[in-house]
Amino acid sequence: MKYEISITKTSNPKPHPQDESKLGFGKIFTDHMFLMDYSADKGWYNARIVPFGPIPTHPASTVFHYGAEIFEGMKAYRAVDGTIRLFRPMENIKRLNNSAERLCLPQLDEQGCLEILNTMVELEKDWVPHSEGTSLYIRPFLYGNDPHLGVHAVSNAVFAVICSPVGAYYAEGINPVKIAIESEDVRAVRGGTGYAKCGGNYAASLRAGQRAEKNGYTQVLWLDGVDRKYIEEVGAMNVMFKIGGKIITPELTGSVLPGITRKSCIELLKDWGYTVEERKISVDELFEAAQNGTLEEAWGTGTAAVVSPIGHLFYKGTEYTVSNNQIGEVTYKLYNELTAIQWGKAEDTHGWSTKVCNG
Ligand SMILES: *Cc1c(COP(=O)(O)O)cnc(C)c1O
Repeated sequence: MKYEISITKTSNPKPHPQDESKLGFGKIFTDHMFLMDYSADKGWYNARIVPFGPIPTHPASTVFHYGAEIFEGMKAYRAVDGTIRLFRPMENIKRLNNSAERLCLPQLDEQGCLEILNTMVELEKDWVPHSEGTSLYIRPFLYGNDPHLGVHAVSNAVFAVICSPVGAYYAEGINPVKIAIESEDVRAVRGGTGYAKCGGNYAASLRAGQRAEKNGYTQVLWLDGVDRKYIEEVGAMNVMFKIGGKIITPELTGSVLPGITRKSCIELLKDWGYTVEERKISVDELFEAAQNGTLEEAWGTGTAAVVSPIGHLFYKGTEYTVSNNQIGEVTYKLYNELTAIQWGKAEDTHGWSTKVCNG
């Protein structure tokens, strides 16, 4: 073990949710949480699993004032062979360290972090729900925790992991969403924090999301912050289009979050013989394709939904229907293949699914 983890089990375990169809997302938490402290002198220390509960924090703590916070989102799956599995966990750990580097937060040992995740998931394995499509959502997060208001890179930090049993994302079937293209707010700019999974990016994106919702749209499609014309992401997902038989997805320019689902989709699509172009794609190109009938499919990718088909696109007064507001063939194939690998139903030729323990 890289980090020696002490375990204090709860004396008061919570009842597990009876009706797994009502789990929703991130509302219920397991019995324990992982915490570990960092100081510039000691490095990471006091790795511990303790009963789930509030984290006492100094009122001057960096995280409250300057937003020094990053996080990850991943899932543990109860596979069909009875084992509990993670999907490409090392990718999340590497991204966490990349995010930490951007925000001047301390690095974690990769192998040590994997051991922390495995230890947490194994301890909470009975909380991994059983119903089709359900999983245990894992939320690692890391924040600056200096107890004073001076503005500089932190010398104290906390790494924490909490877990939440979550329901099937598509309990009511995979329905395409309505997306509004955002022409006012931007999510990120090159040189900023777009490629880091940091809380502040989310805080800054809420206003546009709220506005879109008010107008009857599920999410916004973000444009780049400089030219305001190249497509970046959709909500908190990466985005892909099938145009004239080819798959096109925005390249990772620094303002786009490098999604693990995105990366996995690209690898599968290439396996299947599709041409995948990672490049700039402008709204003009997209709407030309929508108008001349070559825009065949559009979908978002992310851990929560896996894929989310886009049925309508709205931009400056015009609404376009994509794929007759049906889930497209490639979108559906990606969904089926990724979920089959995650739940151990399909052969995992890439070695993406990793066993944590027996269920
Ligand atoms: C987490 C996230 C994604 C998706 O990443 P996955 O690794 O596929 O879950 C995409 N965009 C944003 C802004 C995100 O925060």
